[in-house]
Amino acid sequence: MRGIVWFRRDLRLSDNRVLRTAIDTCDEVIPLFVLDDQLWDRSGPNRRWFLHGCLTALDDDLDGRLVVRHGPPADVIRSLAADHDADLVFHADDVGPYGRSRDERVANALTHDGRKVEVPDSCWAVPPGTVTTGAGDTYKVFTPFFRSWLDQPKDGPIPRPRRIDVVEGVASDDLPERPDVDAELPDPGEAAAGKRADAFLRRDVDDYDEMRDDAAADATSRLSPYLKWGCIHPRQLLNRLDLRNPGHKTFAQELAWRDFYADVLHRWPESAWQAWNQDMADIELDTGVDADDKFERWKEGRTGYPYIDAGMRQLVAEGWMHNRLRMAVASFLVKDLHLDWTRGAAFFMHHLVDGDLSSNNHGWQWAAGTGTDAAPYFRIFNPIRQSERFDPDGTYIRRWVPELADVEVAHIHEPWKRDGGPPDGYPEPMVDHGAEREEALRRYDALKG
Ligand code: FAD
Repeated sequence: MRGIVWFRRDLRLSDNRVLRTAIDTCDEVIPLFVLDDQLWDRSGPNRRWFLHGCLTALDDDLDGRLVVRHGPPADVIRSLAADHDADLVFHADDVGPYGRSRDERVANALTHDGRKVEVPDSCWAVPPGTVTTGAGDTYKVFTPFFRSWLDQPKDGPIPRPRRIDVVEGVASDDLPERPDVDAELPDPGEAAAGKRADAFLRRDVDDYDEMRDDAAADATSRLSPYLKWGCIHPRQLLNRLDLRNPGHKTFAQELAWRDFYADVLHRWPESAWQAWNQDMADIELDTGVDADDKFERWKEGRTGYPYIDAGMRQLVAEGWMHNRLRMAVASFLVKDLHLDWTRGAAFFMHHLVDGDLSSNNHGWQWAAGTGTDAAPYFRIFNPIRQSERFDPDGTYIRRWVPELADVEVAHIHEPWKRDGGPPDGYPEPMVDHGAEREEALRRYDALKG
């Protein structure tokens, strides 16, 4: 029997249960990646660059036998299966609205032809839809989700297959040109993911609970792009943690946030780009030329708030931003500039090498106060207090905002308070945080009517 292993967000050979199931079921397999314009065109250059590298690495690991086909997945897979007599198609589960409708189309096309689809795994530690309340509902609050998530049985990782019998002579399309990128991005692929995980688990995870909020220390795992593309599975990380250690437990909790947001999107697919909490959907937002101008300044990292600008510049320079900063800049966009969270989320998705619909858009909704388990609207991040607390001596700010490199610690968080104002080339704050906070609360109160 022949089967197609459809790689999507599981670009690795070790602990790949989709591949393992296919090998155990079939005599020969076709390892396939479908280059789908719907997804490729929507990804920014950073994610395309990274994906391109992951596919090249996977092809190397498969001794050049990865089949790439360009086109709509239902058409591509249907004709590939017919041309090579493949009875079964194996792939991992997805939660995004597009991914789910695509998978439905593929399954319909194949079953119409008398073939079968198997979905033996997902790219989350616990498959979406599994962790439910006693009444069988999806959790809307993280803490009880996490308690229940901890109790779920989690399989240990499985080794890389020793042998993969591949159907010979299957034509492959070329990958498109690898895009040029301005950002400095991490090495793609399974081997790079393994190295990154080893380095983090050997050292930084022990202090993760204490150090993870310190953006200057850069003490988080930076595994998010690898988790996004499945160069590593969360099982492979969880299996190496000792949950009695507070650093390890906090790290497991972050992996659970990833699962939580996938669960929320799975249950409420419309919440990808709409307020999950429809009571918040009509909050007054700024639009028009002035709003567009503010958005530009936020994107360029020229708001005049050093901590916010440092975060935005890290995003553009590295295609990645520290979590503390993601929360702070998101809050600033929504509560200080009164702009729609979806504008910020789309800008993040364009730049982030780890850009992931569920984590990104629900991270945004958390900050905007529109999501499940969101920070209540009246809890508004103060960009100065955040900066003083999480980057006290301004090391992170100086790293990303060179205009402020020589500003003394006493003024690094509020350079406009220096004699003579901010240094040449660095703007005055574009808004007054205190006043905008009051304005945000006014809009919130108006909504409550
Ligand atoms: P670590 O601190 O080492 O955490 C380990 C892993 O846990 C991460 O790689 C990630 O997979 C997961 N994780 C950690 N925090 C969260 C969280 N709050 N929500 C979901 N998963 C989490 N994460 C993405 O992977 N892709 C995104 O597009 C994304 N967009 C975000 C947008 C906003 C506005 C916010 C507030 C958060 C967003 N996050 C996103 C979550 C988080 O910021 C990143 O996962 C984290 O910064 C990645 O760095 P790391 O791998 O060093 O994380």
